[in-house]
Amino acid sequence: METATSKPHFVLVPWIGSISHILPMTDIGCLLASHGAPVTIITTPVNSPLVQSRVDRATPHGAGITVTTIPFPAAEAGLPEGCERLDLIPSPAMVPGFFRASRGFGEAVARHCRRQDARPRRRPSCIIAGMCHTWALGVARELGVPCYVFHGFGAFALLCIEYLFKQRRHEALPSADELVDIPVLPPFEFKVLGRQLPPHFVPSTSMGSGWMQELREFEMAVDGVVVNSFEELEHGSAALLAASAGKKVLAVGPVSLPHQPILDPRAASDDARRCMAWLDAKEARSVVYVSFGSAGRMPAAQLMQLGMALVSCPWPTLWVINGADTLPGDVRDWLRENTDADGVAHAHSKCLVVRGWAPQVAILDHPAVGGFMTHCGWGSTLESVAAGMPMVTWPFFAEQFINERLIVDVLGIGVSVGVTRPTENVLTAGKLGGAEAKVEIGAEQVKKALARMMDEGEDMRRKAQELKEKARAALEEGGSSYMNLEKLIHSSV
Ligand code: UDP
Repeated sequence: METATSKPHFVLVPWIGSISHILPMTDIGCLLASHGAPVTIITTPVNSPLVQSRVDRATPHGAGITVTTIPFPAAEAGLPEGCERLDLIPSPAMVPGFFRASRGFGEAVARHCRRQDARPRRRPSCIIAGMCHTWALGVARELGVPCYVFHGFGAFALLCIEYLFKQRRHEALPSADELVDIPVLPPFEFKVLGRQLPPHFVPSTSMGSGWMQELREFEMAVDGVVVNSFEELEHGSAALLAASAGKKVLAVGPVSLPHQPILDPRAASDDARRCMAWLDAKEARSVVYVSFGSAGRMPAAQLMQLGMALVSCPWPTLWVINGADTLPGDVRDWLRENTDADGVAHAHSKCLVVRGWAPQVAILDHPAVGGFMTHCGWGSTLESVAAGMPMVTWPFFAEQFINERLIVDVLGIGVSVGVTRPTENVLTAGKLGGAEAKVEIGAEQVKKALARMMDEGEDMRRKAQELKEKARAALEEGGSSYMNLEKLIHSSV
């Protein structure tokens, strides 16, 4: 893409660990292009079709966006071919290898950027790097261009993390069962348990504390932070973070919003079409959508309690299950007998199970959906806000317990199911002492939370609808996110 525009050329390198980083960074690229800036998104061969199809959907003629593919050295790091995201590695033991390969990928991207620097019209003017691409700062400094980080977290969670790094309150805790006070947004009061803190403060990941330190040094050194959020949502968290961290914090979202929510029939999978046809047959606001993001996997016994609640509650439920094929045989049998889990959707069924990937943004936008049970991943949280949807919150790990506090205590658009313990993930596998595998939330408790959202949630729904309007306004010309995109462009000229 040789371009004659005077606008700066953005090079975006999404963190390849998870789809939930790749999707919003691709959307940010599309937004920058819609403001007239040329954009290059660099990713790996396996992830490239994901990025390209999203770009094609947002900008039908690919206007202004180049997707560049750079090989991922999986084999050199002892990984099977094609393991180019954390959800694709066959075993948690391969996590360190994945990070080694990702470093090798980073070195190759840096070489590519240096080569491009010699071509006036392809020269990078600004690099936006996904959270673990710490190598990006060095190349940005070499080329003399600004470097921004995209964490995938909201501004409130980032503000809490900044506070914890500076105040180190967590270090004085006698045990992980004690509450930590995080007074970042007075008059709201926030407390989370020590064990619910983000991984930066619970050194139980397979990457260890040295790696966390490297991430921290990277985020302290970059020129700014790009956030998928909008200023009206997080009660000034972006400005407070900017003041505390001493750098630009630009909320440019919700980045999924400009996407056409109606399912594109050419791109839709059979599963996606099945979901939408099932929803079409349901009454307005009658369905509960249940999904725990791209990585959330519940222990089998806990999943059974959730399943029993979903098939016996008064509402039809659309339930996405990650890793359904690895569930024990008796759980799979139960799902087969009690839900539409085998690809046969009956118009009158109560619980439709999707194994794998559902078209979440389109589902949340469907008039039949009345509430969302979510793990509080930031992407899902924001998509729910953008759809004006109340939530039942069931955090799993990372910064999700902090997001839950924002949803429930600050915004008043969700009800907590009451989970207190983090669930294991690929980074903490075998390091939480086994307690996480116990059933914490029984079926009755799930049903109570659903009833509070579906039957008594008018106030939550009203507030969520108000936020939906504000989200739309933020992206319109002159709105806060629109203006922040302009600031990002102007600060990179
Ligand atoms: N997602 C989806 N279909 C699914 C599961 C997830 O489209 O079946 C998308 C969802 O819309 C969101 C992202 O994947 O954009 C998940 O991001 P989030 O930050 O909520 O959670 P994470 O996957 O990082 O835990």
